[in-house]
Amino acid sequence: MSIRVGLGVDFHRFAEGRRLVLGGVEIPFGRGLEGHSDADVLTHAVCDALLGAAGLGDIGLHFPPGEPQFKDISSLELLGRVRALIEREGFRVANVDAVLVLEAPKVAPYFPEMRERLAQALGIGPDRVSVKATRPEGLGALGRGEGVFAQAVALLVSGEPSGAGGSGGSHRCGDRGHPGADRGVFAYP
Ligand SMILES: [Zn+2]
Repeated sequence: MSIRVGLGVDFHRFAEGRRLVLGGVEIPFGRGLEGHSDADVLTHAVCDALLGAAGLGDIGLHFPPGEPQFKDISSLELLGRVRALIEREGFRVANVDAVLVLEAPKVAPYFPEMRERLAQALGIGPDRVSVKATRPEGLGALGRGEGVFAQAVALLVSGEPSGAGGSGGSHRCGDRGHPGADRGVFAYP
């Protein structure tokens, strides 16, 4: 059993003639973010948080920008592939917390749908995915509305008890007299 935390950050610049996709949700805004994929900065940050937690590098390593197969690809599709990578290492996602930093547009009305879509790609409940946003208060390039910044943390748990050697260690853990604490850590589906 192990618990890993990972951090992901991403920036994308606004560009004309692009769709704005954040957390897998298309938001009407008149311009979107520049990028090889759909440029979903929020989902990219979540991908990097998961990969970081599993010690698997970052999104650019697995899905190099410029490759034709990733042109305009939905970043939720990439997130699904990242999920497969971390599951192959024996990890599951316990929860994700993410924040967008942008002056405009207002994104709060889209949070429930973003959480749904991210959670679906991760195979977990939306209650385990948090999305927030804050304004940069006019500071710097973000404050001038030139782009969007996103940051995410993810917690991964591995299903295998540490030191498992056929002695039934995981069962003993479950039988200990601290059911609340044990369930809180061990019972992630
Ligand atoms: Zn990105």
